[in-house]
This record gives sequence, structure tokens and C-alpha cells, in this order.
Amino acid sequence: MKRHYLLPDISQAGRIGCSLPHLDVPSSELPPEELLRQELGLPEVSEVDLVRYFTALSKLNYGVDTGFYPLGSCTMKYNPKWHEDVAKLPGLTALHPYQSEQSVQGALQLMYRLQEYLAEITGMNATSLVPVAGAHGELAGLLMVKAYHQARGDKARKKILLTDSSHGTNPASAAMCGLETGVVASDARGDLDLKSLESMMNEEVAALTLTMPSTLGLFDPKIAEISQLVHERGGLLGGDGANLNALLGQTKFGELGFDYVQLNLHKTFSTPHGGGGPGSGPVCVKENLIDFLPTPLVTEDNGRYSFMSPPKSIGKMADFYGNFGVMVKAYAYLRSLGPEELKRISEDAVLNANYVKEKLKPHYFLPYDRTCMHEVVFSGKKQKAKGVATVDIAKRLLDYGLHPPTVYFPLIVSEALMTEPTETESKETLDNYIAAMIEIAREAAENPEVLRNAPHNTPVRRLDEARAFRQLDLRWEIDHQKK
Ligand SMILES: *Cc1c(COP(=O)(O)O)cnc(C)c1O
Repeated sequence: MKRHYLLPDISQAGRIGCSLPHLDVPSSELPPEELLRQELGLPEVSEVDLVRYFTALSKLNYGVDTGFYPLGSCTMKYNPKWHEDVAKLPGLTALHPYQSEQSVQGALQLMYRLQEYLAEITGMNATSLVPVAGAHGELAGLLMVKAYHQARGDKARKKILLTDSSHGTNPASAAMCGLETGVVASDARGDLDLKSLESMMNEEVAALTLTMPSTLGLFDPKIAEISQLVHERGGLLGGDGANLNALLGQTKFGELGFDYVQLNLHKTFSTPHGGGGPGSGPVCVKENLIDFLPTPLVTEDNGRYSFMSPPKSIGKMADFYGNFGVMVKAYAYLRSLGPEELKRISEDAVLNANYVKEKLKPHYFLPYDRTCMHEVVFSGKKQKAKGVATVDIAKRLLDYGLHPPTVYFPLIVSEALMTEPTETESKETLDNYIAAMIEIAREAAENPEVLRNAPHNTPVRRLDEARAFRQLDLRWEIDHQKK
């Protein structure tokens, strides 16, 4: 079967896709010759060819709506379409950011309630909805940490401690704030190494930021001791809450001793993501950081809602109020589920990850063999020994019609394969993925060549990913036609 991916393939001289009405005004001269671009060589196609071309292209996309998407640390769950309808209600989309507070009381009420719900869910005292990404929420947290120590006259605290399993945005956010970083090691179980923390936690440390559960998909049972040690030595404890899908309704960051946490509404709370946005990374804080929150917050007084700026606010972080549409979807999600159903999200997310873990354990090396949370990190070490790299396993999954898990992250696991099934997937979907992974492990042992050359039946074969990323080739251009 011949498939047409490039328009020039189907171009035929003289063929047209539309006919224009007869001219009912005087014709005019074409612009001067030097302004006419003959070299454009536009493809000549009929309407039906064009429709089929674009329809074929649209079907090359892979997304959560086409199949399983177990990309670890990304929470690529299915998000109900109904929330999109809610976010599209004309009364919400037609609002203008310069409207008077008086005329947008409904929108303010929604934001106010969302602030309160997120504070409740995280066990914190206040929320700012302004940050527009998880990393942006991290930045808000660190700017507050800096302002907090400065306000107390504690000028020496310029360092942020992170763990060696941290998401790349964690050190990047610290660098954006002009803070130094120190890396605390993980112990053999994958938890934070307390001795290492003990030796590093001095009067220069402004905060420890911890991902809970960690990017290894593990809950650190020593969290109370960690929090105590950090606070005794004058630091703050910051949470990266992008993995909230694991904890929803089970435990609260506030109760675990965190001073602030950022959430990813576009992961946990019903906004589809990937490809760059829009996102929302609210930051929730304890009493000690409320005065520093980014502006504006929504307050309520006798049923009237208005914007306010906290007295020592770190200032504005985004245009206007953040990504309102994402807030609407999060609100719709919370209202439609309610507290009991919220708990089932984390229960099912954790159950699904552990199911995948147990089924794949005989076939892939499991570096931390213990109950995991919402995701499980395997290593392709066994296969690597046979000359099959983890990237080969990932590429081979494409041939099975599946999106690969996250690979080569977290950095402390060699040949990492990080699967996050999420709660929205059925047992049949998980079984299908498990079967493909087992089949691939068998291929790695018996026929490694087929993996090293994968994928075999995708529209494009293996790409130079670094180059594809830097030199995106999204447009049909003349030299393609010459090829
Ligand atoms: C996704 C993620 C982030 C960053 O969130 P963005 O919205 O992509 O900026 C930070 N930390 C962890 C653990 C994450 O999984």
C-alpha cells in the first residue's frame, strides 16, 4: 500500500482544489515581476486529495485519546471531555481581564473556592493560582523562600538542597532564583539519605525541596524526621507536588511537614497536556509564607469577592490571574468527583502501578523492589547486557502501537524505564501493555536485531531526536519536491 504523507507526492500539474466565482469587478495587474515568487512551486491538488492528505496526517498523531500513554512523571491520564465543555461556556470564555470585579463575581467565586479546595487537599493555609506551569510554581515557592529568609534578616541562606532523583526543573528553578544547589544522595532503598542530609543541612541552606512521592515512585517513610531536621536547622521544606495523583485524599503535604507545595493542575486535575500548555501550577503555603504569595489572590468578604495582594508579595508572575480555563477544569473535576471519589483516584493509580510492577518484575530488573506509588521504575539493565539499549525497547513499543514509558529518568537508575499507568486505564489496557513488554523482553533475548532497528512500521523510522527537536521540520518546502 502506498501511503501519502507529503503533499508533493500527490501534486499534478493543472489540478485545482477550488473554483472561484466569475470576476464581477475590473481585473487588475499582477504585482511587479520581482515580487512574484515562482519558486514557491505550490502543490496542485484537488479538494478531495487535500482533505485526505490532512486527514491522513491527523491520524498519525498519537495521544491519550488514541491509546495508552504511560509516560512516567507526566500523569497522562484521560480527562473527561465534559470538563472541556464547561471551560468553553460562553459566560466564562467571553470574560475580559479588565472587567470590573463587580461584573465577574462568578469567576472570582470559582477561583476563591478552588484556592480553598487546593489548600484543603494539600493541608495548607492558602493558595495562589497564578503560576502557569509546575516549574513556574516551583519558582514561586523558591522566590517565597528567599523573601521569607530576607524578611527575617537571615542573609546567609542562599542554598537549596535537592535530591539526586529530582526532576530537572528543580535545579533549574533554583538557578532562576540565583540560589545555589546542593544534592542530597538517595540511600539503597531509594529514600533520602538522612546522614547525607544531616551533614549538608547548615545555616546556609534556605530550603530542602522534596518530590513526594519521589520520581522513583516511592513514598519516603522518614518524612517526619526529614522535616524535623530541616526545621530545627532553620530551613524550610518545599514540596514538588507534581506527583499528587499518588496522594490525593490519602495524606496531605501540610501534615507531612512541608511549608509549601506546588501542584500541576494539568497533570492531576483534568487538563490534557503535552506539547507545551496551557498549564497551571498553583502554590499552596502554610501560615508562615502567606504574606509572600504571588499576587493576586481572591478574597471573600460577606459574599463579595475581590482581588488582593499579600503585604510582602513576591509580586506578579503572569499576565493577569494565571490560566483561568485550566482552573475551570480543575474546579469542574473536583466538584464532579467530591472527596470520596478523589481518594479512589490515588487508590487506583497506585494499584495500577503495582499491578504493572508485579507482572513485569520477572522480565525486567527492578532496582527498588518494594511497594510503589503511582509509578514504577524498572531498569533495562538485563537487556543492556545483551546489547539492547533502553531506547531500543522504547522504540519497539511503537511497533506494538503503544506510547513508551519515560526512559533514562530518573538519572540515578541506569537504563531507567518509568511507567505511570494512571487510574484511568482498565485492566485490559494494562494487560495489553504488559504483554507487549514481555514480548519485547523475549525479543531482546532471542532476536535483539529487531529491537535495535525499531520502529519498523511507523510513518518515520528512528529519528535523530536531538536534531529533530532543534531543527523542527514542520513545513513542506521546495526541496522536498525535488527529492
Ligand atoms: C512535570 C513535573 C514538573 C514540571 O512541571 P511543568 O508543568 O512541566 O513545568 C516538576 N516536577 C515533577 C516531579 C514533574 O513530574
